[in-house]
Amino acid sequence: MKTETGERRGTAALHEKIAAIDAALKAEFQAHAAPIIELVEAQTHDPFCVLVGTILSARTKDACTAGAVKRLFATARGERFTAADLERLDVAEIERLVYPVGFYRDKARHLKELPRVLREKFGGVLPHTVEELCELPGVGRKTANLTVAVGFDLPAICVDVHVHRISNRLGLVRTKTPLETEMALRKLLPVRYWKTWNSHLVSFGQTRCGPLRPKCEGCPIWKYCQEEGRGGKKTQVLRTRGELRRTKET
Ligand code: SF4
Repeated sequence: MKTETGERRGTAALHEKIAAIDAALKAEFQAHAAPIIELVEAQTHDPFCVLVGTILSARTKDACTAGAVKRLFATARGERFTAADLERLDVAEIERLVYPVGFYRDKARHLKELPRVLREKFGGVLPHTVEELCELPGVGRKTANLTVAVGFDLPAICVDVHVHRISNRLGLVRTKTPLETEMALRKLLPVRYWKTWNSHLVSFGQTRCGPLRPKCEGCPIWKYCQEEGRGGKKTQVLRTRGELRRTKET
């Protein structure tokens, strides 16, 4: 049976590990181009624009989302793209502007509906809770969490495939779905890491720790990785024996 002191030590060690991982990934993040939603926020400082950008970014590469966001936002009549600008466009026009983002037809339909639902349910004011945002068309937990964290600068953990995969590779969670990962991370991560956990891990997932061939050589968080055969325990053993290069070459 665990003693209270033992539990406290375990929690302290876990928090130390999380802090070290976060610091390393923050440095990696700063060395690369920011994910598209961070750029949208930096350029607009507007949660509605962040929400629209996030809807467009689902299952779409950042470069493609960036083009769609630029074309769509260029239709704004004022300084920033608003729900009124969106409402003026018809579905076919939105489709043309956001093509070729993934599922552009569904996304155009959802975006067309967005201003009306926003007005009817929330008096035209974008809500800032995950649950309320999920009532908007085309908005799931991932989009809602990212809008809360990046758009409103409030604590929320957005779990996409990168966050789900890397949090598991690091042994922080043992989960099968992004929703399970989100719930596990909410219990595990101190709140100060919530807002940036997604940006740091998405950037890391895009540049180094991809799903199929992660670049484990020189990985800054390699010692925390538990992924058998992908740079974690197995590679660690080989590294220790000085056999990594030889094994990779054969
Ligand atoms: S060692 Fe490889 S699999 Fe593990 S976190 Fe680093 S890049 Fe990802």
